[in-house]
Amino acid sequence: MTHPAQPKASHFINGEYVEDTAGTPIPVIYAATGEQIATVHAATPAIVEQALSTAKAAQKEWAKMTGTERGRILRRAADIMRERNRDLSVLETYDTGKPLQETLVADATSGADALEYFGGLAASLTGEHIPLGEDWVYTKREALGLCVGIGAWNYPTQIACWKGAPALACGNSMVFKPSETTPLCALKVAEILIEAGAPAGVFNVVQGMGEVGGALVTDPRVDKVSLTGSVPTGKKVYAAAAAGMKHVTMELGGKSPLIIFDDADIDNAVGGAINGNFYSSGQVCSNGTRVFVQKGIKEKFLARLAERTGNAILGDPMDEATSFGPMVTENQMNIVLGYIEKGKEEGARVICGGARADMDGYYIQPTVFADVTDEMTIAREEIFGPVMSVLDFETEEEVVARANDTEFGLSAGVFTKDFTRAHRVIGNLEAGSCFINSYNDAPVEAPFGGVKASGVGRENSKEAIKHFSQVKSVYVRMGDVEAAF
Ligand code: NAD
Repeated sequence: MTHPAQPKASHFINGEYVEDTAGTPIPVIYAATGEQIATVHAATPAIVEQALSTAKAAQKEWAKMTGTERGRILRRAADIMRERNRDLSVLETYDTGKPLQETLVADATSGADALEYFGGLAASLTGEHIPLGEDWVYTKREALGLCVGIGAWNYPTQIACWKGAPALACGNSMVFKPSETTPLCALKVAEILIEAGAPAGVFNVVQGMGEVGGALVTDPRVDKVSLTGSVPTGKKVYAAAAAGMKHVTMELGGKSPLIIFDDADIDNAVGGAINGNFYSSGQVCSNGTRVFVQKGIKEKFLARLAERTGNAILGDPMDEATSFGPMVTENQMNIVLGYIEKGKEEGARVICGGARADMDGYYIQPTVFADVTDEMTIAREEIFGPVMSVLDFETEEEVVARANDTEFGLSAGVFTKDFTRAHRVIGNLEAGSCFINSYNDAPVEAPFGGVKASGVGRENSKEAIKHFSQVKSVYVRMGDVEAAF
């Protein structure tokens, strides 16, 4: 019997499901059991061509609609997503293995927020009138054209919406390629947009590995590329886009610092460290994986952290009581287990976890290392799993310098009751998305993105509009033209 997660076909182009079984088969494995639940096929060159030509043609008409009309469609899509939240959440859980307890509140809901927010902004994307004596200049905010979105595997619904909603609000069309690891959810986003009234071809989904992503990024018809992925992939995609002088948004990896001063509320700080390391089993780019704890509260912090981490419920992700799911794939599990071994070898102290969980599926115990030093591999490289490194510090000056000593710059957090210090420390940290007495909140109203190797551009908020549109300026002369000859 066909599994309910199996899509009707691999791709969604020009308003309908499309198949080409000549493409490499991509198995979809449910991480909680290791069972294959679906198969899709990578896009062949013919499918890529169909998606790009369709999106290119559809964009012109879409951009001619008023912002109010485009916005209404996006807001209707948001409503449909919310009505179907449970079904979409179950699919997200099949796609990623993340527990339903999370997907019910963080995926289709976040996607719907983006559709609603950018739907609401669509009608107000206006230019300026600039008076110059009798003459004047006016500006228009125009669409970029055909945009390509490429997703990572941790938030397949959210990433499709975070890219698709602002792109469409500005009058662009999009070809979206989900991660080959989680190909299912973006198809539903495409289906819902059509149901909400989006013209066929405005939002298309094609499947495939890096090769398909590469074919999309290098096509001369493409005006913008928005990638969510790792730094090495980001460097390749950015370079390929630069060769075609395309606009880019790069949402890449991190190794973010979370700094806890000894005046902090310990339980709130522990809660922040848990949210910033163990949500989605640690598969979150903005995670605060270097937890710097001031020496005075170190042992108290570790004791409370170990106690609360012990309350994680590992189990069937479809059981809403489960609060901690598996790694997305066996391969990701092995990568993370490799880092855990490295941490032990290099002398870090295991406070809790430190091994694979004794159950089916790709589960790793939530792991906390203490006595981590700045040079250790687990303190330098992005692990993308449930591995928290706790480092000690003494002074503010010292911790800020150590926190910034990384190629990454996605997020940063500080816990302290001293608000002057909180703002000073955040002001000195090299990171794009920061938190004071909190961690990992990502409301659509707030800009999201990194500095340094963690990325270029911003998603969400009004900032995202700037990255999916361009300004045309028009000089209007009212009098005669003066010329030298
Ligand atoms: P990845 O870099 O392996 O793949 C990302 C996407 O790029 C996939 O769809 C992949 O098929 C595609 N791709 C690979 N090579 C390509 C190429 N040469 N040209 C075009 N496309 C190509 O990342 P992943 O393993 O799927 O995701 C994990 C990474 O993503 C982590 O580093 C994580 O930090 C990052 N991430 C960042 C954010 C953010 O918003 N900053 C969010 C989630 C994940």
